[in-house]
Amino acid sequence: MIDTRAIRFGGQDTPQGFQFELSGGAVALDFANTLDERPRGGLERIADYPALALWSVQSGFLTEGKRATLLAAAQQEPAAAAAVHAQALALRELIFATIKATIASEVLSDEQVHCWNDWLKRTQASRRLSWGGSGLAWKQPDIAAALDGILLHVADAAIQLFLDTDARSRLRLCASDDCDWAFLDRSRRQNRVWCDMTVCGNRAKAARHYRRKVGISES
Ligand SMILES: [Zn+2]
Repeated sequence: MIDTRAIRFGGQDTPQGFQFELSGGAVALDFANTLDERPRGGLERIADYPALALWSVQSGFLTEGKRATLLAAAQQEPAAAAAVHAQALALRELIFATIKATIASEVLSDEQVHCWNDWLKRTQASRRLSWGGSGLAWKQPDIAAALDGILLHVADAAIQLFLDTDARSRLRLCASDDCDWAFLDRSRRQNRVWCDMTVCGNRAKAARHYRRKVGISES
């Protein structure tokens, strides 16, 4: 059997910490992909609050300075940081369930919809207005103002994505049996099937090649 893990990238460890692969095309989808290899039981890439902050920096919505602020706060309040981390994983699974249900035209449970309404309430409560150059404007939220600022940003992005009918029609899960990474199919013909052609696409090619070599017919 081919060791498919050997050609599985999906991010890599570096001296600066884990380098996430961000191929989802939307922040909420990249967040869903932080649990790698779901069909095999899952490989956790957000093991704690600092990992969540690191992912946020690499995703481009948290500055290094704000990350330092949040990490200092997390160190002072470890129990609160652990609670936010647990909420992050719950939000991520809610996002994944919503992607799956959308693609399969299934329905979310009342409880899951209730959870989305809770996130909506929290994101709305964090919004502020300010006086812009020509009138009232949304004030850019300070993500580092509270430990859960990251989650409010991701939840808000996810809600906007799932309400967008064009984005919804482009939601995909990677066709590889052991991947399940989510992405937005922005290809012209909307026929992208792999999260990453160089990873899962090649792996599928390698598996096909292997089957041919040992004489297993393609099904
Ligand atoms: Zn994949």
